[in-house]
Amino acid sequence: MKQLSFYKGGVDIRKNLLDAADPSSLSLFFVVGLIVGSFLNVCIYRIPRKKSLVSPRSFCPNCNTPIGWYANIPVLSYIFLLGRCRACKAKIPIRYPLVELLTGYVFVHLYYVFIQYRHESPCIFICYIALCCALIISTFVDLELLVIPNEVTFVGIPLALVLSVICPGLHDAQNTLRNFSLTGIYRLDTLIASTIGMLTGGCLIFLCSILGKWVFKKDAMGLGDVKLMGMIGGITGWKLAVSIFFVAPFFGLLMAVPVLLFKKSHLIPYGPFLSLAALVCIVMQDYFIGLVNMYVQLFAVLFSGFHS
Ligand SMILES: [Zn+2]
Repeated sequence: MKQLSFYKGGVDIRKNLLDAADPSSLSLFFVVGLIVGSFLNVCIYRIPRKKSLVSPRSFCPNCNTPIGWYANIPVLSYIFLLGRCRACKAKIPIRYPLVELLTGYVFVHLYYVFIQYRHESPCIFICYIALCCALIISTFVDLELLVIPNEVTFVGIPLALVLSVICPGLHDAQNTLRNFSLTGIYRLDTLIASTIGMLTGGCLIFLCSILGKWVFKKDAMGLGDVKLMGMIGGITGWKLAVSIFFVAPFFGLLMAVPVLLFKKSHLIPYGPFLSLAALVCIVMQDYFIGLVNMYVQLFAVLFSGFHS
């Protein structure tokens, strides 16, 4: 009879737990993530330098020697080559294996959370993966050159709108539209939800940059951050966009103190913190959406209180 305790609501909990930690598919997605990460490295180097992503093949930026497939295996090649080019022994930036490992980790984490744990549709998983890839490119370009490439946001912003029509569950799952329809057409509603998310994200950062300019008398935040946050909001919806806006400064403060202490430059890229906050808020979306809902209700009560 004890066996019965494993069954809850007709579902075998043991099976769900096992499913939720299926090691073979997790390692498969880790390897896929490493390979995608290797391509993101190409994007990070070539996009800001206005070079083609497809040709020529990977080469050493120091001696221009083409890199063979055996020297292009994610992470492993870096370890076997001891972090140096095979031909000229120039140092390979640590960024290469880092981006690959980070992408692998993001793939595994999102797959675990959205497919194995929450049983969301693969479409939603793909949307978040696409957003995270764009965020990884923006983050590492921003860290190196203090600019968020337009090539990422100008593709990302329309893509976010298209994805919210192709994959309407993206906004439905976040409770943006529950019990509420603006037009009566589901996919048009999700398109509007995406647009509202985009405007919320973009406008919040834009207001900050105007305020920063007014207070500090110089550019505090670039238009790149506005476009980046617009792209994020288009995928996450307005509730998570607001959450990301409030979470990002915490990561920013953690980084700003050591940078201002040890570096002469007072320029700190903000894109990486928005990206990190976006990842955290997407993974913990139930918590953050709940929090925003609570504040909405609180304001509703306060507002109706003033009128009664
Ligand atoms: Zn070389």
